[in-house]
Amino acid sequence: KYDLSAGHEPQKFGLGMKEIWEIDPAKAKPGTVTHTMGWPLGKNAGGGSFIYHLGGNQVLVGFVVHLNYKNPYLYPYMEFQRFKHHPLVAELLEGGKRVAYGARAISEGGWQSIPKLTVPGAALLGCSAGLVNVPRIKGNHNAMLSGIAAAEAAASAIAAGRAGDELTDYEAEVRKGAIARDLKPVRNVKPVWSKLGLWPSLALGGLDMWVANLTGWNPLGSWKHGKTDAQATGKAADFQPIDYPKPDGKLSFDRLTNVAFSFTNHEESQPCHLKLKDPAIPIAVNLPLYAEPAQRYCPAGVYEVLEGPEGPKFQINFQNCVHCKTCDIK
Ligand code: SF4
Repeated sequence: KYDLSAGHEPQKFGLGMKEIWEIDPAKAKPGTVTHTMGWPLGKNAGGGSFIYHLGGNQVLVGFVVHLNYKNPYLYPYMEFQRFKHHPLVAELLEGGKRVAYGARAISEGGWQSIPKLTVPGAALLGCSAGLVNVPRIKGNHNAMLSGIAAAEAAASAIAAGRAGDELTDYEAEVRKGAIARDLKPVRNVKPVWSKLGLWPSLALGGLDMWVANLTGWNPLGSWKHGKTDAQATGKAADFQPIDYPKPDGKLSFDRLTNVAFSFTNHEESQPCHLKLKDPAIPIAVNLPLYAEPAQRYCPAGVYEVLEGPEGPKFQINFQNCVHCKTCDIK
């Protein structure tokens, strides 16, 4: 209705999946943070992991896959499971137990993708505005700053007797204040990574980011994202299926077992909340052209292609949905 993205780059996303583990107390190091890039994705996709040691012998283990991947056979959830078999991670988790699971798409487009932020009577804040700093793998600082800026703009509007109009002061603060100073210098990291791959992006994107941090000037200018993540998906005929090892039930788990640890709950009798604009598309188009990637990108196993006597049938197990929003995006 408001065409908020007009004049801005498309928003880009990463699918973040996370497990909470209780580990052997001898291995717990509260406050320790580990970030990794790449492995085991290889050339198939961009992404990386985070491992945060909390108190109480708990560890958050997460993996993010950038949703602009081309190979429709990629299975983000299984990449996450495979990641935990890296010797460093396996050693940390061995003897522990997974106590929770969840997934969420993260807005990663950065500065170029921030849409218009206000409409009459409402404003976009935090992640819905796309304020994540991708190289810092962090968005909650900007979410809080956007909350402060919106609250101050709303308080001034109320004091002036205004109601139901646009908080233009809020948008101006986001585009000029602390959030802009945080996001603008790093704006090329994501598009350079997407276009050139991990290693060139570390060199070139890193150089651009550090020069911008020191001087306020980005040598690369402002790279565009170009395509949406959906438009980035390639045809199945151009790729090979990927052979993923079976989960071992100790370090790695199948999707449905993990969904039980997400503690989401839908009544079986409630209407399906996942609506297809055209119910024929998954089998008529997505299956032959893209090997129906929804079977793999959904981190909760909601979408299935079932073989029946009348041919393939698309099934939506909406009860499993963890509301990550990847199906709206990819
Ligand atoms: S159905 Fe969509 S929103 Fe729900 S878990 Fe799967 S991809 Fe995420």
